[in-house]
Amino acid sequence: MKNKSKLKKEVLSTVNNLFKLAEVVSRDNPKLANKYINLARKNAMKVNLKLPRNLKRKFCKHCYSYLVPGKNCRVRMHKSRIIYYCFNCKKYMRFVKR
Ligand SMILES: [Zn+2]
Repeated sequence: MKNKSKLKKEVLSTVNNLFKLAEVVSRDNPKLANKYINLARKNAMKVNLKLPRNLKRKFCKHCYSYLVPGKNCRVRMHKSRIIYYCFNCKKYMRFVKR
């Protein structure tokens, strides 16, 4: 049997790399950025890896677009919450500020 926690660590580093790539290409090629996000999500799902909080905020949980504040999403602070509005699917995401 394969070592699961080791596998998860490997997947997590792959996922992190994919998010970094998405960030790099998001300015010139948002579609490619979205592809990277999808790939990252699929990798994570395969091993039941929960995405870290900081990565969860980088894409829309409804349409999985890579979010660039001011470009394809709007970020608002409301009390202790951060609210993201996705221009692509016109939906909101809320996070508790930490
Ligand atoms: Zn969206």
